[in-house]
Order: sequence, then structure tokens, then C-alpha cells
Amino acid sequence: MAQGTQRGHGPRQLQNFVQGEWVTGTGAMTPLVDAVTGETIGETSTGGVDFKAVLQYARTVGGPALRAFTFHERALMLKRVAIALMARKEEFYPLSFQTGATRPDSWVDIEGGIGTFFAYASRGRREFTNERYHIDGPTEPLSKNGTFVGRHIMVPLEGAAVHINAFNFPVWGMLEKMAPALLAGVPCVVKPATTGSHLSNAVFQAILETNELPTGAIQLICGEARTLLDHVEELDIVAFTGSAATGQKLKSGAAVVSHAVRFNMEADSLNCSILGPDAVPGTEEFDLFIKEVTREMTTKAGQKCTAIRRTIVPAGLEEAVIQALSKRLGTTTIGAPTADGVRMGPLASRQQQRAVGESAERIRAVTERVYGVDDFAVVGADRAAGAFYAPELLYCAAPLTTLAPHDIEAFGPVNTVMPYRDLGEAVQLARMGRGSLVGSLVTADANVAREVVLGVAPYHGRLLVLDRTSAKESTGHGSPLPNLVHGGPGRAGGGEEMGGARGVSHYLQRVALQGSPTMLTAITREWTKGAAEHTDAVHPFRKSFDELQVGDTLITASRTITLDDIEAFAKLSGDTFYAHMDAEAARHHGVFEGRVAHGYFIVSAAAGLFVEPSLGPVMANYGLEKLRFTKPVYPGDTIHVRLTVKQKTKKDVPEGTVPQGVVEWDVEVRNQENEAVAVYSILTLVRRDVPFNASTPASASAAA
Ligand code: NAP
Repeated sequence: MAQGTQRGHGPRQLQNFVQGEWVTGTGAMTPLVDAVTGETIGETSTGGVDFKAVLQYARTVGGPALRAFTFHERALMLKRVAIALMARKEEFYPLSFQTGATRPDSWVDIEGGIGTFFAYASRGRREFTNERYHIDGPTEPLSKNGTFVGRHIMVPLEGAAVHINAFNFPVWGMLEKMAPALLAGVPCVVKPATTGSHLSNAVFQAILETNELPTGAIQLICGEARTLLDHVEELDIVAFTGSAATGQKLKSGAAVVSHAVRFNMEADSLNCSILGPDAVPGTEEFDLFIKEVTREMTTKAGQKCTAIRRTIVPAGLEEAVIQALSKRLGTTTIGAPTADGVRMGPLASRQQQRAVGESAERIRAVTERVYGVDDFAVVGADRAAGAFYAPELLYCAAPLTTLAPHDIEAFGPVNTVMPYRDLGEAVQLARMGRGSLVGSLVTADANVAREVVLGVAPYHGRLLVLDRTSAKESTGHGSPLPNLVHGGPGRAGGGEEMGGARGVSHYLQRVALQGSPTMLTAITREWTKGAAEHTDAVHPFRKSFDELQVGDTLITASRTITLDDIEAFAKLSGDTFYAHMDAEAARHHGVFEGRVAHGYFIVSAAAGLFVEPSLGPVMANYGLEKLRFTKPVYPGDTIHVRLTVKQKTKKDVPEGTVPQGVVEWDVEVRNQENEAVAVYSILTLVRRDVPFNASTPASASAAA
């Protein structure tokens, strides 16, 4: 994807990257302002950008190009992009400081964002089929004789993914949406919030410069995009992060509604943290709570969708909590992110400063301000020029009947402390947020944890239970993680992002397939029970990965299990469980008719029947999955094995390693009545189609 670079550096006109090239918007420009100094650092416009054509370009150019790759190939693209971005990360920090973010704030945004690419690169290869579609779940039996079965597959949406982001995380916000979409094979049209878009723009340009993504895979719109969603169509998807008001408006747009476009919404929420009744002053949990609440108020100057807005504490502890929080907040140095000792930078803009002030004032009208000053010192910057806002702690004495603290989001360092009398009331207060992204509970009491968590769970997307055991390694209340879902019900938008493979599935269409096992095996390339089996004279362990075909089957010779076998296995393994050793005891519960063979012996004996012992292309057996013992095996029973190639997955291995793939085998151990006594899958590493010579060392023939 070689599309050149934007012109100019420093204060400049940001360009849009659309239809494969950088273009400068025409007409009125929106200024981009440094949050610390108030100086204009650039300007941007989307004038002249044809949004309809942008979406069509994604659908017709980016989509087919991405879908030509398998999940694993796309995962590797993400990895290469992430490595390249990480190498350039220091370029992004100065731009991030201009948004008001301190270095730790910026770390979350920049390196946390790149981390989502790494996370999806690795999960993509572990959790998805190395195909252009993904097989979802097991075969569903649909008929008595097994000739008609069901299977789910997931295919990439053949539309554009429109990503609309909030201003607070210009990098993370962009990358956490891009990673699952690109892994799914869906091209992205990214629309960062205008504030902070100079940072998104720089990272976007760095992604393009890796030349790792196919043409049309990503486009960028920097600036106003009011009519963008007028052009969405049925297979497009919108992922929105921002205020509930904007989200609701966009979600109910005519084109979104009439084409039933998937719309994922992450909106503001009034997240809470609850102090357990056991966590009284003097306990480690009390100190952890104070630390966590303060951190959530001051990180990113409270401009986090996950920040704690409501602090719910046992009645009687309000005073202690307020005092401890005030003391800690008092040590927060406010100022320029680059100045020494500064822990909290300004808000993202003067508009935000006004908006936070107005919201805080509305909450203040029904509460009491217990910490906060209008006149505060700022280090390394001119307070009047930047968008500075000091932390503010409010107290609400009657939170069950006062709605404002549960309802008004001041998107800054503003928090309301509220008391509860019993756990039921704590749960009720938490639920009054009417749907949150995250909640936390600090307690060392497992009973409290269970009652509160199960009480508030339906209203939350994520819940952190913090105590002294987990504190050291805890990732904290406010950090969404790529392997856990991010999103929340109700007020929080009702959406869900990330969560590993779950986040990718939003960009895929799940299709239920019905047909015969042979047909579904041919379509999915995963053998399903009842499908045709191929047997020939060559033992499958003599075939290379490339020679093996899905459905290749070995029916082994038989072996009769004896009492001596059971005795010998018991001696060798040390497993003398009564059911194997004592006929009367074995019958005691009515499960067995007498001494039964060890299941693990049956699995071992099965291996003895199906392996081809001489040196061959099978390099290692590295796992056994989904093992079920379906019938007991008694002395005198005769077993044999059906071994079938179920699935083949090429493996990406470092240079110099033997080219190889993973072969999953479906194994069924049967008795003399041809009934299954054990079913499972085994996983083997098998060499690719290299000339195999038993006398050639692996490394030498790998290089051949
Ligand atoms: P916002 O005003 O709702 O804007 C969000 C995004 O929507 C921006 O990119 C904005 O672009 C865009 N937008 C607005 N109107 C649009 C339209 N008609 N068509 C297309 N795009 C449109 O929110 P914000 O002020 O940027 O962000 C702060 C809010 O986001 C807070 O309430 C916070 O709680 C929430 N938030 C939620 C999460 C979450 O994960 N749930 C994360 C971060 C923030 P412009 O900037 O160009 O107007």
C-alpha cells in the first residue's frame, strides 16, 4: 500500500486519506489547538471528501483485497504493523502531550493501542481457522441417522467498517477497533474525533508506511463527517465511541435503520466503585480503594469512559473516605505534561473545560463540594491559556433520591461520594447508573464479593474485585483489555468490543449450514462424523502434511483387553481405583458390571494400535482434546480404532525451522459391537511436503 505521505510538518493542514491517497479538505478549516498552551497546532477539513465514494472504495477495493488473505495471514499483518509502530512510538509522544496527556496517560493510549494489535495478532492465529472463513462450534446433529447435520461458519462482512471515535484516546480508540476489523477481513474507514486527530493522523500515516496492509484496507477522515452515515449499506458496520447523545442520534439515522446496519455503541457511563463494609480504615483494602479512586479521577484528567464517577461507601465511613481522598488528591501536581513532577495534565480543550464545569455545577447544585478549589496552581504552563481543571470531590448525603450524580457525566476529574446502609443499598446505588462500562468492588470478604457482583452484574460490562491478593498485579478499574469485553448495557450504549475472538465476530456474518456430513466437510474442510472416509494402503503417519487429505482414515487392527492388562496398567501407573481392582466395589453404584479397564489405558492402547512407529513425517503429538469415555471396556472386550484427518492448519514457523502444519485427528475407539468407547481429537505436528529422507537431519532438509 504505497500511497505517499502527507505534505508538511508541525502546524499544518491535516489531510484525509481517502480512496488510496492523501487529500486536503477544501473550504472552512477547523483549528486544532494545543490543550496545554492554547496555541493552534494545525487545521483540518473534510470539505470535498465524497463520503459515499469512500465507503464504496472500502467495499470494492479494500474488502476483496483483505478477504484474499486467511485469518492467520491477516493476523501476521497486524503483528508486523505493531512491531513497526512500536519502533516509532517515541514520535507519537510529543503529539500526545499536546492533547494534554502526561507520559503515563500517553503510554496507555499509544502503547496500549499498539498492544491491541499484538493481542489480536496472537489470538488470530490461536483461535481462528487458517482459512477465509471461521468455523464456529461443533457439528449439530439434526437427524436420527446422521445423514443431515448442521454447522455454523462465519464469513467477513462484505461492507465497510466505519469507526467513529471519541477524543480521549486518539490512538487506542483507533487501534482497538481496527485490529479486530482487519483480522476479520473488513476494511476500515476511521473517523477520529476532530480534537486530537493530529495524533490519530500521525499513527495512521505510520501504519500506511509499513506497506503491510492491502490497498483500500484503511481510510481516514479528519474532521467533521456529519453525512458519513447517510451512505451506509446493509453489509457495513458502524462502531461508535462517544457521548450517549451523539451515539443515539447516529444509531437512529435513516440509512442505519433502513439497512439494519450493525451499530456498536460505546457511550458515556457513570461508573462506580464500591468499598466493602469490611474494608475499614487501617485495612489494606481501604488504602487500595483510596488509591484506585484517586487514580481514576486524575489519569487522563478523568477523561476516561471507564473513570470512577460514583464512590459508594458504607455509611459511617464517608468522613474517613473523603479525608483520605482529599489528602491524596492534594498531592496531585497539575500542569504541562512535559513539566517535572506533573501528575495531571489539562483537559483536551477549552470546550471540554467549559462542558465539565457546567456538568459539575449541575451535580454540585444537589450535593456538597468537599474537595476542590477554583484557584489552583499549574506547573510549567499558563493556566489561563490551557484547558486546566482541578479535581473535584462532591458528597451526596441522600443518593437514593438524588438523581444528578447517577445521571450527569462530568467528563473530567469529578467524583461524587455517596453512602450505603447495607449491601442491598450498595447494589441499588450501583444500578442507578442505569448501565455502566465497568464497576469495581474493594473487599477481602468473598461473601460480600459474591452478593455485590451478582447484584450489579446485569448493569455492567466488566467488574473488578480488588483485594490485597490481586492488588499488585491488578490492571486496575479503568483499563479495558483486549482479551476481555469492553462495553456495557443501557446508558453505556449497549455495545461490546474486544474480548478476544468475540470482538472479531462483530465483523463476521454467522451462517448456519445444513446438509449431509460429506457436503459440509467439503465446504468447511473440517471432517465431520458421518462424512466420507478415504482409506488406502499407505498409513497416514507415512504421509506428509501436504499429502494428507481431510477424511483420510485408518481402521486399525483389534486388541482384546485382559484382566492382566488392567493389573499391569494399575501397577505401572499406580492408579488402583476400586473400579479397576475390585469387582464387587465396581458394581457398588450400579455404574459398572465388574472390573473396568482404565480409560487412560484404553487411550494408550489405542495409540499402540494406530501409530506407525518408524521415523516418518509426524514430528510430535502435542495434545489431546475433548476426550470422552462413552462406554466401559471390560476384560474380554476387543477394541479397534478409527483415526481420521479432521483438520489441517499450516503453521507459520521461523526461518530455519522444519516447514510444518498441525493435523487434528478425529479418534474413535470402538468395541467388538462397533460402539464407540472413547472419542477424542489428537493434535500432531506434521512436516510439510518436503522430500523426506529418514537419514537427513531435520534442519538440513528444512533448508532444502
Ligand atoms: P462526541 O461529541 O459524541 O463525539 C464522538 C465522535 O462522534 C467524534 O468523532 C465526533 O466527531 C463524531 N460525531 C459527532 N457527530 C457526528 C455525526 N453527525 N456524524 C458522524 N460523526 C459524528 O463525544 P466526544 O466529546 O468526542 O467524547 C467524549 C464522550 O465519549 C464522553 O461522554 C465519554 O464518556 C465518551 N466515551 C466513551 C467511551 C466508551 O468506550 N464507552 C470511550 C471514550 C469516550 P467530531 O469530533 O468531529 O465532532
